[in-house]
Amino acid sequence: MQTVMAAKAEPQDRRPLAGRVALITGSTSGIGLGVAETLAAQGAHIVLNGFGDPADIERAREGLTVHGVKTLYVGADLSEPAAIAEMMAMARDVLGPVDLLVNNAGIQHVAPIGEFPTSKWDAILAVNLSSAFHTIRAVLPEMVERGFGRIVNIASAHGLVASPFKSAYVAAKHGIVGLTKTVALEAARSGVTCNAVCPGYVWTPLVEKQIADQARAHKISAEQVVNDVLLVNQPNRRFATVQEIGALTAFLCGENGASITGAALAVDGGWTAH
Ligand code: NAD
Repeated sequence: MQTVMAAKAEPQDRRPLAGRVALITGSTSGIGLGVAETLAAQGAHIVLNGFGDPADIERAREGLTVHGVKTLYVGADLSEPAAIAEMMAMARDVLGPVDLLVNNAGIQHVAPIGEFPTSKWDAILAVNLSSAFHTIRAVLPEMVERGFGRIVNIASAHGLVASPFKSAYVAAKHGIVGLTKTVALEAARSGVTCNAVCPGYVWTPLVEKQIADQARAHKISAEQVVNDVLLVNQPNRRFATVQEIGALTAFLCGENGASITGAALAVDGGWTAH
């Protein structure tokens, strides 16, 4: 599925990301949508991706156009490499070469490793890690050729430390931090940067959904999950916001982010300072 809306030309647009083309995976919800809103507000044209109710997605896409930017929605399933290749080609054909790539799509499953379904392991590795390899592989050569590009991988505090019952998620997130460093080194002299943003808990549908799973795994109530399992790791005892993640991503995408590459930047209220 795709939708595109032409924007009025803004020759005097001095916003930091004016005219850039940004593709954000998993941007129909939560952090990805927050990042899309922040980048659009700074002038970037936006490729949205992800699942959801078509009317909600259309509302989200329409909402971005108030910033006078072009938008495109591609509902590619990121567990399918062929669908990713089609999405990348469509983005290029409709909006032009991707300048800003944000690999954000992610899924979660919480269970002790002995009971962890193999199909969930495969799906989490495909969406949370391999999809970023496929998108980066599609855009990096052109970014290097043009001498500019920004790749931001939304990893997690679980890219830096582990928690029980999240074997696939923790493995995938540690993997994406390693991929980030490798891409940064390969592109270091080209004007292309690649960084990982590592949020602690951010209040989004993904977190809401895992509260019930965690309650079952730990055999405690939902309220205890919030206070004693989730925020117990986060010393500032508050959920981060999608706006905070969006603002850091926008900074990394701007001119002043030029020297930051290969970094795994924690936005976790002090969690990984332990
Ligand atoms: P969310 O569930 O609100 O959004 C996930 C997005 O990914 C949605 O748009 C969904 O449609 C999309 N998606 C899922 N599977 C897909 C697939 N196969 N193909 C295409 N799109 C797919 O989750 P969120 O909390 O906003 O998480 C976004 C990212 O941030 C994830 O990578 C997550 O691991 C990471 N993260 C979240 C938190 C948190 O506390 N919310 C903390 C650390 C890291």
